Amino acid sequence: HAKRSGRGKVVVYTREMEEAAKRTTRVEQALRRAVAAEEVEPHFQPIVDLKTRQVIGFETLARWTDRDLGFVPPNVFIPIAEERGIIGPLSQLLLRKATETARNWPDELFLSFNLSPSQLVDQNTAEQILGIIAKTGFDPRRLEIEITETGLMTDPASAEKIVSELRAVGIRVSLDDFGTGQSSLGRLREFHFDKLKIDRAFVSSILEDKPSEHIIRAILAMCEGLGMDVVAEGIEEEGQASRLVQFGCGGGQGYLFGRPCDAEATMGYLREAYRSMARLRTA
Ligand code: C2E
Ligand code: MG
Ligand code: MG
Ligand code: MG
Repeated sequence: HAKRSGRGKVVVYTREMEEAAKRTTRVEQALRRAVAAEEVEPHFQPIVDLKTRQVIGFETLARWTDRDLGFVPPNVFIPIAEERGIIGPLSQLLLRKATETARNWPDELFLSFNLSPSQLVDQNTAEQILGIIAKTGFDPRRLEIEITETGLMTDPASAEKIVSELRAVGIRVSLDDFGTGQSSLGRLREFHFDKLKIDRAFVSSILEDKPSEHIIRAILAMCEGLGMDVVAEGIEEEGQASRLVQFGCGGGQGYLFGRPCDAEATMGYLREAYRSMARLRTA
C-alpha cells in the first residue's frame, strides 16, 4: 500500500520495508530492556605506540548479546539507539562501566570513548559525561572522546560548545574515521582536535595502492603541522605497521595488536604487556 507523506510525495511501502521496520522495532525493544538491565558491556581494544609497540590506551567498544536476538553488532544497534532516543542512557551506562574498569589500569593509559552525532546536538551531553567521571573518580585527563565529521555537521555551534566544555577539564577530543564521510579540511581549522584517527579504508590498502599511500602521507604531514596526534585504524598486517612507522605515524590500532576484549581479558593483556616491559627494562 502507498501512503502520502509531507510535500505530496508518495512513498511506497514494500513488504521488505515493513519487515525491516519490524526488525528495527524488535531490536529497539530488546535494547531498552538490555540497557535497563545493564546488559550492554564495554569491550576494550588496545592502541599502541607504533614504534615501540607499547600499549598507550584503549578504545571502548560496545558489545551486546541479547537473550533472544543473540549477538547484535554495534553497527546495527548504535544507529537504532540514536534513531529511537536510547543513545543517551546507553552511552551513560557504557561510560560508567568503562571508567570503573579503566581506573584500575596503570595511570598512563588513556581510555577513549565514542560519541554519536545526536549526542553532539544535545546540550546535556557534556554535563552527563562530567557527572559520570566525577562519580567513578576517573581522571578527565585520561579520557578521550571520539567524534566523527558527521557529528559536527548537524549543528556545528552546539558541537563546538560541548567540545570546549569537555576540553576545559582536560578531556581530549579526537576526530574518528578521518577521510571518509563528509571530510572538510575547514573543520580542522575551526575545531581543535587533539588527535586524528585515519580510517581503516586507507590503512587496509596502503600496501597495494599508491593513492592510499599518498593520502596517508599527506594526512600525517598535516597533523604534524597542526600539532595533532595520529592513530591509524584497522592495522591487520605487519607490513602495514612497518610502512606506517616509516611514514612517521605515531599510533596504531587493529587486530595485529589486539581485538576488542572484555574487562577481565583486558586486565590479562595488561599484566602480560607490563611483564614483558619489565623484562625489557631489566635485560
Ligand atoms: P569505530 O569507532 O571506528 O571503531 C573501530 C571499529 O573497527 C570497531 O568495530 C573495531 O572492532 C573495528 N576494528 C578494529 N581493528 C580492526 C581491524 O584490524 N580490522 C577490522 N576489520 N576491524 C577492526 P565495532 O566494534 O564493530 O564498532 C563499529 C562502530 O560502532 C564503531 O566504529 C563506532 O562508530 C560504533 N560504536 C561502537 N561502540 C560504540 C559506543 O559505545 N558508542 C557509540 N556512539 N558508537 C559506538
Ligand atoms: Mg572510534
Ligand atoms: Mg574509527
Ligand atoms: Mg569506524
